[in-house]
Amino acid sequence: MQRSYVIKPELGKSYPFVSHGKGIYLYDKEGNRYIDGCSGAVTASIGHGVEEIAEAMYAQARSVSFAYRSHFSSDAVEELGAKLAEWAPGSLNWSFFVSSGSEATETAQKIAIQYWQEKGYATKNRIISRWMSYHGITMGALSMSGHVLRRKRFVPLLADGPKISPPYPYRRPEGMSLEAYALACANELETAILRIGPEHVAAFIAEPVIGASGGAVVPPDGYFQRIREICDKYQVLFIADEVMTGVGRTGKPFGIDHWGVQPDLMALGKGMSAGYTPMAAAMATDDIIETIARGSGLIMAGHTYSANPQSAAVSLAVLRYVEKHQLVEKAAERGAYLLSRLRELADELPLIGEARGLGMLCGLEFVKDKKTREPFPLAQGVTARIIKRAFEKGLLIYPATGGLDGVAGDAVIIAPPLTITTEEIDELIALLKESIASVEQELRQEALLV
Ligand code: PMP
Repeated sequence: MQRSYVIKPELGKSYPFVSHGKGIYLYDKEGNRYIDGCSGAVTASIGHGVEEIAEAMYAQARSVSFAYRSHFSSDAVEELGAKLAEWAPGSLNWSFFVSSGSEATETAQKIAIQYWQEKGYATKNRIISRWMSYHGITMGALSMSGHVLRRKRFVPLLADGPKISPPYPYRRPEGMSLEAYALACANELETAILRIGPEHVAAFIAEPVIGASGGAVVPPDGYFQRIREICDKYQVLFIADEVMTGVGRTGKPFGIDHWGVQPDLMALGKGMSAGYTPMAAAMATDDIIETIARGSGLIMAGHTYSANPQSAAVSLAVLRYVEKHQLVEKAAERGAYLLSRLRELADELPLIGEARGLGMLCGLEFVKDKKTREPFPLAQGVTARIIKRAFEKGLLIYPATGGLDGVAGDAVIIAPPLTITTEEIDELIALLKESIASVEQELRQEALLV
């Protein structure tokens, strides 16, 4: 084979070449088939090779792919904005289009800071976030991310705000009720606000369900309701990072809808265009946009590819496809089935400490000792071994390690396309079981598992 000049995730490793995809399956050039058990990066939510999207893409490309947003708007962009306003809760009616989840969270961060400036609060510019969170990799987004492993090399350069504990029910203090735990975690926000003074806090950002840094960790009921109360009390905006949870993934239009809470800003990405083209958005309420419109009238954000008609047409076609095939409802229904099957696995296999999730966003946490919940050190690479074994057997799953303390803890995300059938879920579970059982055996042979 020709020498490669492409920088890959793991330098020196060779990757198979993808050939094509159909539904939940991806195929490599050697003819091997893989179940896409994590929709790539929780992205390909309508499955691969959907003709309607290819047609929408082609139709837009034939008329116009790119027209700069400072010169033109377009039907595709306006219709997408209107569709998202229909989908989003409350008065979250406004979308600023970007190309990645990192740009979306960073744009939300900037809009929040600008909002307070326009209102005359020049010092309200810090963002509070949580440990065990992931909001993206650009410096602004990484500053908000509480993903210890990803931050490590850049800490001195980050524009860090305070970080509070995430709600992590599996590892809550022994004997504490979920209700009390939800309040204790949410109340950390109040403590953090008071420590630096509400006059310095622009916003609080959180993922409704913790994704890449924890493995589908679902907060207890009451948590986000209390967060909303605290934000209102201290005039702090609440940003929901829906990059992973948004557009039906959890069985509701947006993850935060499970708790009936309305954010002031929302970041979207991934499932918004389901991997067919890069597309993401920062959404804001009427109040925020009207305030900025009355003030400077200029949003201090934007990238070359912001609001390009090509990506908008694709995203619009994806949203219409989700509606037409009732994929939000299907995510709830089949996601519940997936979770029940994962819980069966957790009962059977000693390696699985917990199976959890919401809708079609599920996770498994692996432990050394099921009783004490003792984690494996990251250095033992348990997650990497399971992912590799699954890959060899034709199943793709997504790692969610290193987020909490960068030292220990193993988790994976299981989040297939929302289109998956129950038979396909059974097929996925069979491969997953074989993969985990095989790694379990290996760990016992190395005396790493008790
Ligand atoms: N927020 C969340 C919740 C995410 O899961 C991700 C991606 N894993 C991002 C932001 C960043 O998105 P992107 O990789 O598209 O920049």
